[in-house]
Formats: sequence, C-alpha cells, structure tokens
Amino acid sequence: MEKKEMLYEGKAKRVYATEDPEKLIVSYKDDATAFNGQKKGTIVGKGVINNQMSNRLMQRLEKNGVPTHYLQELSQRETLVKRVSIVPLEVIIRNIAAGSFSKRYGVEEGVVFDQPTFEFSYKNDALGDPLLNTSHALALKLATEEELAAIRSMALRINGLLREFWSGCGVTLVDFKLEFGRLSDGTIVLADEISPDTCRLWDAKTGEKLDKDRFRRDMGGVEDAYAEVMKRLMEHDD
Ligand code: UDP
Repeated sequence: MEKKEMLYEGKAKRVYATEDPEKLIVSYKDDATAFNGQKKGTIVGKGVINNQMSNRLMQRLEKNGVPTHYLQELSQRETLVKRVSIVPLEVIIRNIAAGSFSKRYGVEEGVVFDQPTFEFSYKNDALGDPLLNTSHALALKLATEEELAAIRSMALRINGLLREFWSGCGVTLVDFKLEFGRLSDGTIVLADEISPDTCRLWDAKTGEKLDKDRFRRDMGGVEDAYAEVMKRLMEHDD
C-alpha cells in the first residue's frame, strides 16, 4: 500500500491517505511534546518503539475481542490502519494515583485504587484538553449516549487486558489514555496508539518510571526507558 497525500500532522505522528479511502498510513515521529505542547524535544528512536509497541498491544487486544483500527505494520515507523473519524475525547483510566490526578485531588503519587477510575477530557488543544463528564460530552454532541457507554465498557476491558499483559513483563500499568474512532458504518473501535507516550509504566519491582514522565520531568534516561519496556514486551510476546 503506497502513501499518498499527507492528511494531518500531529505532535507525534503524520497521517497519509492511500489509494483505498477506508485505509490510512500512520507514520510515527521521534518528536516529543508535553504540557500541551509547551515543552518540546526529541526522543531518539521513539517513533519506532511506539509504532511497534502499539501494534503488538493492539494485536493482542484484537485476539481478545477488542476491535481496533490496526491492519498491518508496513515498516519500522509506518502502519496501515482503518480510517476512522476520531471521537474528540481523551479517555483516561487510572489504577494508581499519578500526574494530574495527584495534583488535582492532592493525593500522593503511588496510592493504589480499589477500582480503576474512568475520566474524559475534551480533545481540544486550544482549550487545554479540559476534563468533562458524560453530560458535558452529550451537551457538546461529542458522542451519543450509546457510544459513550460502549467507550466506557471497552476502556475498562482494555485496562484489564493491558494490566495482565504488562504484569507478565514485570511492569505495572499505572494509568493511560485511549482514543476511539468511528468506522464508516459507525462502529466504535480503539484508535490512536498505546505506548510509553500515552501510558504510565513502572517497573513492578523497583517502581522505576519507564515512560514519558522521564521526559516531562527531565529525569534523563528517556531513550533507555522506552527501549527497556519494548524489550520486555518483545520477550513476553506470544
Ligand atoms: N495522557 C496522554 N495525553 C494527554 C494527557 C494524558 O497520553 O494529552 C496520558 C498520560 O501519559 C498518562 C495518562 O494519560 O499516562 C494520565 O495523564 P494525566 O491526566 O495524569 O496528565 P499528565 O500528568 O500527563 O498531564
């Protein structure tokens, strides 16, 4: 499948048309941003890792009955995906307090929840991705009630599966962000990516951060952390 015109360039990926109107090619960059684009940098090799990791995780989710946009890995940085229209919500699931949850509610990072939390942000850079609830999402017509219910139940199921995959690799899944899209027939599928850019991943034994927080917080060892989680996932791939 050949790349045609570029349709969209985001912070970490470019999206291209193909000859098939139902299929797109996503190309992952090494560019990293944080704090709504205020912090910018490069994580060398990140595009390759995020592409391959996201594809492996999506394939595992598919095997377990979760529909995704994934079709075929084309090269180290490029993947063929189903064309979707993205639901403009960032769906965040948390198992352990960290990041904006810790800040907003004054809870120490690392507090383990009895049950996962579920929240939405409005995917809108100009507004700084504000937190919103189901009634707000409905008022803004971002999705229907049925779609929101489907997204919620898929997200919680994905959390269960991802926690299990990562725990087999000696990694704790702290929290993560998902995006969903609609196929041309309206079916909701998992889209975007699942990577150390979009998940908090801690070493299960030492608690060491193996994700984008190393970049956000200038902790160093960013490339090594991405390579380490990728290596662990590959070692446990079936
Ligand atoms: N996240 C993301 N993109 C965003 C915001 C958050 O991928 O625009 C991910 C982030 O990596 C973390 C989870 O969602 O795994 C929860 O992030 P949080 O709300 O704590 O925000 P942050 O502290 O990253 O600003």
